[in-house]
Amino acid sequence: MNDRSPGAGAEQVPAPVTVLAGPTAVGKGTVSAAIRARYPQIWLSVSATTRPPRPGEIDGVHYRFVTEDEFTRLVETDQMLEWAVVHGRHRYGTPRLPVEEAVAAGRPVLLEIDLAGARQVRRTLPEARFVFLAPPDWDTLVDRLVGRGTETPEERTRRLETARRELAAESEFDVTIVNDEVPRATAELAALLGVRDLT
Ligand code: 5GP
Repeated sequence: MNDRSPGAGAEQVPAPVTVLAGPTAVGKGTVSAAIRARYPQIWLSVSATTRPPRPGEIDGVHYRFVTEDEFTRLVETDQMLEWAVVHGRHRYGTPRLPVEEAVAAGRPVLLEIDLAGARQVRRTLPEARFVFLAPPDWDTLVDRLVGRGTETPEERTRRLETARRELAAESEFDVTIVNDEVPRATAELAALLGVRDLT
């Protein structure tokens, strides 16, 4: 099932784990940041990554920044729920234990990960809900990617190739949220997790 209409799925029963994926630069990070700021009831997984921090990123908040050796150790000791090489470069993964603890504590759990990671979670946690964050259209996605200005031209090309592949995967997801306006998309996602604005 996949319904692009606004609010689609909002009345469904919340799943214990919700996976948010979507193409690069669609605004997953922005929506996650808005979730973190506005909906503290939602438990947001902190991924481990071998990517170096960008300015302003805080270790343990935005990511757990680890060395290649540390990441390998986490994978080999089965501490990752899923992991993937993203954009052909750095490794990103979801530490398993904190997710299990948050589910056990009854928190609504949100994982913001790439498509390859979402497919792994689909295999290991089929009861999770899979949400695709989509751009209003392709040109908007390109504008956002170019406008961000944090990547080199080679990196940008690589990310656009990834984005084309990822856009084609929308039908694999249970629900699509169109990121036309961040506050609206964020509220729609929070409603899917069973959390509503108090205001
Ligand atoms: P960025 O480097 O811009 O923060 O993130 C790049 C990509 O990595 C994004 O598409 C994001 O969804 C993905 N990503 C972040 N954390 C994880 C994770 O734990 N697992 C997987 N598979 N992808 C992740």
